[in-house]
Amino acid sequence: MTDDWKKRTRAVHAGTRRSQYGEVSEAIFLTQGFVYDSAEAAAARFENLGQDEFIYARYGNPTVAMFEERIAALEGAEDAFATASGMAAVNGALSSMLKAGDHVVSSRALFGSCLYILEEILTRYGVEVSFVDGIDLDQWRAAIRPDTRAVFLETISNPTLEVIDLSAVSDLAHGVGATVIVDNVFATPVFSRAFEMGADVVIYSATKHIDGQGRALGGVILGTRDFIRKTVEPYLKHTGGAMSPFTAWVMLKGLETLELRVRAQAATAQAVAEGLAGDARLARVIFPGLADHAQSGIIAAQMTGPGTVIALDLAGGRPAAFAMLNALRLVTISNNLGDAKSIITHPATTTHQRLSDAQRAHLGIGEGLLRLSVGLEDADDLLADLRRGLDAAGSPKS
Ligand SMILES: *Cc1c(COP(=O)(O)O)cnc(C)c1O
Repeated sequence: MTDDWKKRTRAVHAGTRRSQYGEVSEAIFLTQGFVYDSAEAAAARFENLGQDEFIYARYGNPTVAMFEERIAALEGAEDAFATASGMAAVNGALSSMLKAGDHVVSSRALFGSCLYILEEILTRYGVEVSFVDGIDLDQWRAAIRPDTRAVFLETISNPTLEVIDLSAVSDLAHGVGATVIVDNVFATPVFSRAFEMGADVVIYSATKHIDGQGRALGGVILGTRDFIRKTVEPYLKHTGGAMSPFTAWVMLKGLETLELRVRAQAATAQAVAEGLAGDARLARVIFPGLADHAQSGIIAAQMTGPGTVIALDLAGGRPAAFAMLNALRLVTISNNLGDAKSIITHPATTTHQRLSDAQRAHLGIGEGLLRLSVGLEDADDLLADLRRGLDAAGSPKS
């Protein structure tokens, strides 16, 4: 049944499991354990875990299973494993499949904690990691070796919104039998075509657009049933990265409105990006929906929409960026993204503070760069607020 449904129907109905009470809204099974009718039934359940048979919430829970089934149906994946946060998902996907001696190739422009896992943790356990500039295919070609086990990348980089050619990188990786693992937050489940483009494993921080209302941390790993149940699940169920049933309920309700929210936010982001492009106080406005984006050809092939995040590079550097932030009255200074509320952050001094000056320069994260996550407010109100901010930032010295 679910297989015939279109995306919007899946978002509302896929994975629903009703209890004997026939509730309309999904129930929160806020229980860590499950009762067995007899000693024999307990023994049998431990021996042969079936799809609807739960034994302990770290292994699985009905509300969590509903979320996993619904997001898998939306993304077109065979299966999914829900996790306590986006980082538990990234760590779970990588650590469950890698062992000492394995080689990984990763793009360099990563979310800070992803970089920490690859650079500091995996290498401590004997995994060799090579970093490349994600948009340079020659670097991927040179780095991927016959013994490469996995490649890791963010389809759209944070915060400079470079878009990696997933199809080309997947072809190179599959040529040596490597698994393609994609952190797909910025592409969103609504606009992503990651599996069609060759990804083997797709990860979301559900904290972002899936919740979309700033309430809960969560994550999910999507892939083949074999990978999820035989590789990911044994690692996560024993190491404790499970999503809580309450969080799963929040995320399930988030999925029902995900497409409506993300499409509305993307349309507003488009209007805001177009409204600000060309302003003399901005050295660059980077948005995948603008025709002048450096990877516009890849975007057209790989994504069905532009996303909800804009990068604004102020010509006046850090003083201008801070003056703008401090003058805003509607857009809030914070570091989440994908939220119903528009949020702005100065990556150089917050999310990317840990990097060295040289690393930031290499990634194009200048002192004037701001990352704007566009929410559900009216585009005119947002533009008025952002223009007030730019007025406060003043004209750059010529
Ligand atoms: C937020 C984010 C993460 C981490 O997710 P959490 O839910 O905060 O643990 C990982 N990757 C990307 C690209 C993100 O934006």
